[in-house]
Parts: sequence; C-alpha cells; structure tokens
Amino acid sequence: MTSGKSKATSEPLLSLRNVRKTYRGITAVADVSLDVNPGEIVGLIGPNGAGKTTLVNLISGAEPITSGTVTFEGRDITKHPPHSVACSGIARTFQVVQPFAQMTVLENVMAGALYAGKHGSRREAAERARHFLDFTMLSDFADSPASELALANRKRLELAKSLAMNPRLLMLDEVNAGLNSSEISEALSLINQIAEQGITIIIIEHLMRVISELARRIVVLHHGTLLHEGAPEEVLNDPRVVEAYLGSKFARNWQNRTPTTQ
Ligand code: ATP
Repeated sequence: MTSGKSKATSEPLLSLRNVRKTYRGITAVADVSLDVNPGEIVGLIGPNGAGKTTLVNLISGAEPITSGTVTFEGRDITKHPPHSVACSGIARTFQVVQPFAQMTVLENVMAGALYAGKHGSRREAAERARHFLDFTMLSDFADSPASELALANRKRLELAKSLAMNPRLLMLDEVNAGLNSSEISEALSLINQIAEQGITIIIIEHLMRVISELARRIVVLHHGTLLHEGAPEEVLNDPRVVEAYLGSKFARNWQNRTPTTQ
C-alpha cells in the first residue's frame, strides 16, 4: 500500500510480536502484536499513559525491550541500538521537540543526514539538508540558531531532520500538539506529501481531526494493550474505544460530523 491509498503488499514492513515493556514492575506495553504494511499511514491513539510513546521507543531502540520481537523488512532488529535502527531505515520525531539549540537549523538537519550514516561527506549532508529545509519551508531559517524557531517551525525541523535520515518508516509523535488550526492544516499537507513519496508512517496523535484525515487504519492502545484496530470509521464508533478514550461527547459529534478539534 502506498500513501494509504494504493494496494498493500503481502510482506509487512514492520512486525511486532508480543512486544512487552515493564519499568520496575509497571507494565507500559503488554504483549503488543502488530503488522504495518509498506506505504500505510497508521494512526496510533489511546489515553495518556497508554504506552504509545513507549512503543515508538521500543521500535526505535531508544528503550530496551523486555520481551517480544521487532522485525523490519524481514530482519530482526529487536536488540538493535538507536543508531543501527536509524541506519536500517526507521526515523522518529519526538513529542517534546529537542533540536540542538546552539546549532543552526541547517546543521540540525545535517546532523540527521550524517547520523543515519549513508551520506558520508558534509557537502552531501548539506545538500540533502537544504532539500528537506526547502520541503518543510524552513529555507529562510537555514542559518538561524534552532533555538530561535517558534514551535510550529521547531516541529517542521523535527520532520526535516527525520526525513534527512532517508527513512522507509517514519514515526511521528504528536507533531501537531500545540499548533493552531492553520499550522495543523499545513502539517497535514506535509505529512500527505511524505506518504506520497512512499514513506510508511505511524502517527501518534490526540487530534481526531488529524487522525481521521490521514490514517487508513487506526490502532488503539489502552493500558499498554492493543484494544482495537481497524478503519477510522469503525474504530472511532467502537463503544470500547469511546468508553476508554474518546468519550461520549466526541462520539456524538463524530456521528453527526460536527467539526471538532478533539
Ligand atoms: P501520552 O499520550 O501522555 O504521551 P503514552 O500513551 O505515550 O502517553 P507512555 O509515555 O508510553 O504513554 O507511558 C506508558 C506508561 O509507562 C505510563 O504509565 C508511564 O508512566 C510509564 N513510563 C513511561 N516511561 C517510563 C520510564 N522511563 N520509567 C517508568 N515508567 C515509565
């Protein structure tokens, strides 16, 4: 499947099997099994503390997995460190954006290109970085310190940095949080363009407007377990999902298609 619109291929890009994470007796992720197909946009939703960011941390190697397996393009990457996962073709953005504040915007994106290891020379990394600054409409800020960017531009910088890593799977962790309505529309357009390039996307998002516009499949986590997965129409109307996460007010609005920013 490409951009969630084309046909799915038979081999999943990413496979999780019984993935578990415990922190000193607290289970953050409990035996999650999930396949993500090439080109899909998968929405990952659930209440605060459901385990969404932890799952992304486990896939990206940022946190060691307690048990279970993560397979990417048929290769077991379960115990791979973050750098190796990035070189395999998986990039992620962070919920709390964390640019290298003293470096310029361009240097931040170059760091992404160099980190993923496939663009050896600084010149090549700079070229690649400029391409993604252009794509994310940040070219005017290329030589400014990253610390000077406003929130919406810092979120775009996260995107540019991740794209410079040349990922085949991109995991977006609340890239729209704190943005206003027009900034969200711009972000939606960017994410759709990324998907159109064939990059598979997992997006963690609390804004159902965003999820329902982007994702062709939604996965709901609750208390670390996979509560439900399916097409947006089905999942957002499921009584278990409404009870666990969305609330009855959202469900009424959704059924009546009242515009909502939930
Ligand atoms: P939110 O929507 O608020 O970002 P989330 O679904 O991303 O929530 P996680 O941040 O993955 O949830 O947290 C899942 C559970 O794991 C929570 O109970 C959280 O307190 C716990 N947790 C996450 N990271 C750690 C850690 N480093 N040490 C201990 N507990 C943690």
